[in-house]
Amino acid sequence: MKSVMQHDIFSYVRPNILSLAPYSTARDDYKGGDISVWLDANESPYENGVNRYPDPHQKALKTVLSEFKDIPMDQIFVGNGSDEAIDLVFRIFCRPGIDNAIAIAPSYGMYAVAAAINNVALREVQLNENFSLPLEKMLAMSDERTKLMWVCSPNNPTGNAFPREQLESLADSFDGMLVVDEAYVDFSDEGTLLDVLHRHQNLIVLQTLSKAWGMAGLRLGMAFASPVVINLFAQVKYPYNINAPTQTEIIRRLREDISGQIAEIKEQRQLLAVALSELPCIKKVYPTDANFFLVRVDDANFLYDVLVSKGIIVRNRAHVKGCEGCVRITIGTPKENLRLIETLQQL
Ligand SMILES: *Cc1c(COP(=O)(O)O)cnc(C)c1O
Repeated sequence: MKSVMQHDIFSYVRPNILSLAPYSTARDDYKGGDISVWLDANESPYENGVNRYPDPHQKALKTVLSEFKDIPMDQIFVGNGSDEAIDLVFRIFCRPGIDNAIAIAPSYGMYAVAAAINNVALREVQLNENFSLPLEKMLAMSDERTKLMWVCSPNNPTGNAFPREQLESLADSFDGMLVVDEAYVDFSDEGTLLDVLHRHQNLIVLQTLSKAWGMAGLRLGMAFASPVVINLFAQVKYPYNINAPTQTEIIRRLREDISGQIAEIKEQRQLLAVALSELPCIKKVYPTDANFFLVRVDDANFLYDVLVSKGIIVRNRAHVKGCEGCVRITIGTPKENLRLIETLQQL
């Protein structure tokens, strides 16, 4: 068995972040008690539903998420979409202009954008031909200034999930923080790494309510990690990063049962896999664990334009390295999928 590295998390953190004293909000000083007159935060006293600041610690929301995910509240960060969590990870761990990060490619574009904004070099490692993880290459790419490794699973735009043993072994052997983005985990049979989070001090798991949960418009992303890491997120985030209507609306909507919708999308995924592969214009349908397909076609730009002219929009990935000639197609309702197939049949 490979030796498991001892991770000194504090040695991965930017020194200026370690020494931060977080901004204390008016509501942080309030330690409970029967208050009916709130004169501490210079809010408007006229009640209209949103005149009060939201809870900066999102306690009620995290209580529900904690039950749902079976993860203690002090191991959950909630952000304004996963995008906030992605940006915070760079800001917490990477010294601008000095440290670097590793990411697989092709993958989600936000890792590169957030790296560039934070002036952090991103070392992209191309996936193998069959989109499997080039584990040795990824580890060989790292040096003493590599603080982060980004793996999206199931991966956007390739669609495949990576074996969990491989992700766990990466966490064990990488001398830095491993971030696994599980935006599409609800569609995958590979499952979540949340159940092994306690075994990996250097693991951050990202999830979102934007995909299977159908709440992209509310903007809520989650990061799960050790209490030490979550505390760093809490110190760096904007105090009131999740607005009040989003917090209450999400608590309400998490009670809704979405298992039927997920089941339907998985069923449609099977039907679409067959229907797409039978089309003459499609050369290859890549296997997917997500709610979308990456397909290779004869002429991606042409196909994209034709679909747009018929009122259907897909994601043209033809110019992405490793996705030459490909488009990414989201699985829609049965009716929408039928219209897609009928339109493609006429090509
Ligand atoms: C869609 C997506 C997200 C979601 O981002 P939000 O900001 O939470 O909407 C995160 N990661 C990946 C890989 C995605 O494709």
